[in-house]
Amino acid sequence: MQHDKPITRTIGHLIDGQIVTDTARTQPVFNPATGQSSLNVALASKATVEQAIASSEKAFPAWRNTPPLKRARVMSKLKVLLEEHADKIAAMITAEHGKVLNDAHGELQRGIENVEYASYAPELLKGEHSRNVGPGIDSWAEHQPLGVCAGITPFNFPAMVPLWMWPMAVACGNTFVLKPSERDPSSALLIAQLALEAGLPPGVLNVVNGDKEAVDALLHSPTVKAISFVGSTPIAEYIYSEGTKNGKRVQALGGAKNHAVVMPDADIANAVSAMMGAAYGSCGERCMAVPLIVAVGDEVADQMIAGLKTEIAKMKVGPGTQTDNGGNDMGPLVTQPHFEKVRGYVDQGVKEGATLLVDGRGLKVKGHEDGYFLGPCLFDHVKPGMVIYQEEIFGPVLGIVRVPSLEEAMQLINNHEYGNGTCIFTRDGEAARHFTDHIQVGMVGVNVPLPVPVAYHSFGGWKRSLFGDLHAYGPDAVRFYTKRKTITQRWPSGGVREGAVFSFPSHH
Ligand code: NAD
Repeated sequence: MQHDKPITRTIGHLIDGQIVTDTARTQPVFNPATGQSSLNVALASKATVEQAIASSEKAFPAWRNTPPLKRARVMSKLKVLLEEHADKIAAMITAEHGKVLNDAHGELQRGIENVEYASYAPELLKGEHSRNVGPGIDSWAEHQPLGVCAGITPFNFPAMVPLWMWPMAVACGNTFVLKPSERDPSSALLIAQLALEAGLPPGVLNVVNGDKEAVDALLHSPTVKAISFVGSTPIAEYIYSEGTKNGKRVQALGGAKNHAVVMPDADIANAVSAMMGAAYGSCGERCMAVPLIVAVGDEVADQMIAGLKTEIAKMKVGPGTQTDNGGNDMGPLVTQPHFEKVRGYVDQGVKEGATLLVDGRGLKVKGHEDGYFLGPCLFDHVKPGMVIYQEEIFGPVLGIVRVPSLEEAMQLINNHEYGNGTCIFTRDGEAARHFTDHIQVGMVGVNVPLPVPVAYHSFGGWKRSLFGDLHAYGPDAVRFYTKRKTITQRWPSGGVREGAVFSFPSHH
């Protein structure tokens, strides 16, 4: 990590509609394509987080009573503003995360779709009503907001994952404190400022930047009623256990190790191009990336390898900002420590006896020698006992596991600790149906490598990829950010007509 250029700016927090900067603790935000930093991020103290929580608490009563349609209109306006500022937001994502510009636009677009869905909240919040559940008695259920909710988000989708959370939370009448990743904090802060411009009252959404200290302040505040978390599994587990221990509703989405099964009858050319994007897109830094191919039969493995090697040779790796000649396919890893960690996994795979067919470790990008660039890597003969099979690498490292049958492929997947996403490539409908029916994974694709649900479905893995019950965004978000209240009502007329009843009311 280098500091050739002086750091000129510090990113603060957004509290009560104002930018607040507590500079007692800061850390640099690096441009991964250059290895340099001209930006610091303020790391909020406990007191700053408490100030944000108090602001959200103060904003709650009025926002809760704001008609749902008025709240939804803020979302409709925000959608337009996000589209107008798309180039600026995408450029921020690329500058701090490293992903190529097209991919940054794609991430933002998927985030905007969540804002669009949140603008339908009035329809989604309509309750249930039953007349005459007993003589002269009506009953209905309504979804009431929880109060102050919080979101803690990862580096890999700095704009999209926050948009999975707070738009629906506030559209449901809650107020929200967001703690974005300190590695690439700018886009989430800009989007929160656009929300103010769209008419969100100050305090309804506060943003605090920071690290463990800020997260712990959220976890321990009795005012925070619910926490949505997305990040790595050890932290997800910590957030879930601490949060629930403190009486909060928690959904904590964790890491992944997604397998793609390729059957002998698959369209191999299609599977190869799908795998290229799934394994190396965004430098493998996606929780729905596919770092493992499970080839059913040696012939499939050999054909996949031949296809992948040809395609890898054509890949362009370089800064995400470069757009000439169609732009680069893959940018750098997010930070120097992450680069070293991923390269360490490649070393480990070689030591463990997997066959490294394509080695991206020596890559140098001209003019960007200090960037965190790792070329695409491809391993054959990856075995279930190996660390590179078990652990999430989160880099451009694709491994091939050879198995003799679909049943063995499924056993491998079902035995893995993670269960985020998986997919099968086949032309056999029966095999696909058997796979989708029995696989122990939350999101499944058939000839679709990244089965990321659209905004009006919900997103979530199984096993150690998600702690909690409800998935992120979509219909589950309405359930997560509201609590059901069922009201049973009678208006007696003409005075008391019944004596005391001591048996449980029933209709018999
Ligand atoms: P991370 O767990 O390091 O950080 C996530 C958030 O937790 C950040 O805001 C960070 O500041 C905070 N945090 C980090 N350490 C903490 C600690 N000790 N105590 C309290 N808070 C802490 O994750 P990351 O590296 O930013 O993101 C990558 C991970 O996120 C990968 O494991 C990836 O699979 C996962 N992810 C999962 C999904 C999903 O939907 N399941 C989506 C995106 C990313």
